[in-house]
Amino acid sequence: MTNSGTITPSAAALEVAALWRPGMRICLTTHVNPDGDGLGSEVAMVHLLRAVGVEAIITNPTPTPERFAFLFADLPGVDRSDKAVKELRRADAILVLDIADLSRLGILAETVRERGVPVGCIDHHVSKGDLPAGPRYVDSTAAATGELIHRLACELGWTITPEAARAMYVALVTDTGGFRFSNTKPATLRAAAALLECGVDTEQTYVDIYASAPIGRPRLLAEVLQTLVVEDDCGLAWVTVPPGALERHDVDPDDLDGIVEHARSVKGVRLALLFREMSGGRVKVSLRSVGKVDVAALARQFGGGGHTKAAGVAIAGTLSEVQETILAASRAYLLGTPAPAAGL
Ligand code: 5GP
Ligand code: MN
Repeated sequence: MTNSGTITPSAAALEVAALWRPGMRICLTTHVNPDGDGLGSEVAMVHLLRAVGVEAIITNPTPTPERFAFLFADLPGVDRSDKAVKELRRADAILVLDIADLSRLGILAETVRERGVPVGCIDHHVSKGDLPAGPRYVDSTAAATGELIHRLACELGWTITPEAARAMYVALVTDTGGFRFSNTKPATLRAAAALLECGVDTEQTYVDIYASAPIGRPRLLAEVLQTLVVEDDCGLAWVTVPPGALERHDVDPDDLDGIVEHARSVKGVRLALLFREMSGGRVKVSLRSVGKVDVAALARQFGGGGHTKAAGVAIAGTLSEVQETILAASRAYLLGTPAPAAGL
């Protein structure tokens, strides 16, 4: 599908488009610790809506990581996450991107739940979620929410500016690990190709996302990789963020993005984990898999979720308690899931 030619919009596209009208106050929001897909999708929607005369603002539960500040350079005043509750209280409609579970909205969950305005959702997670009523534009086979934004723009016949295209491209690149993960489908690459035709500068976008790091990011990587443990017998590997490492290297949790891939990269590993202490006495676990291991199912056992091959969960307890629990569940899961005979 491209943004040229005539396409009959789906019922879902028309329903979600009925959420906004010029003059309305629309708040876009996404999950805590927003990533390239959540932020790229939001920024793309701001540009796309602006082109049809609708001004949307962004109200996220936690601040935009420095790595993605470049997306906002030409959007002064749009990221109002520091006043999110106040803005959500004045909104005529809310559009939630890249998540369907209220609990993933962190401190904004209660405000979104009780507002009584339509709450639309564009998402690619498996969970049906528990958001208040509103239109849904959901497809768990999409590699990224940004892919769905592109599909929506095509269905509605919207013009895609280079700025909107770049934001959707950021969403695609980050959620597919640079088009390497198994969620990369023909439709994903077609969307990426269409976005490049809209004027994305691939090298500059690469530099903005991956090659503008503070020196603390590679130093943090070096420290975390020292903790790698591999259990060959069941194909389990894990790394742990040493307590205080983020502060020591003056970086934020977003700078951990991708580190778990190093644990997954070891031959024979089927399940890779990253453990990190969070504030409030909780530990975040990032789960990644190879082959048939369903990490979303494993994460759901502890109240988390995500995708088959990339999931996450935050669990109350100390680092060693959570590690003990998760490692035991992981070993049991792996031993009950036969490894493929060869290859993967
Ligand atoms: P990451 O490990 O990179 O934070 O997240 C991987 C995937 O799991 C993403 O799709 C993310 O939305 C999802 N995810 C991460 N943490 C949680 C969580 O605490 N709960 C749920 N339901 N999903 C999560
Ligand atoms: Mn996503």
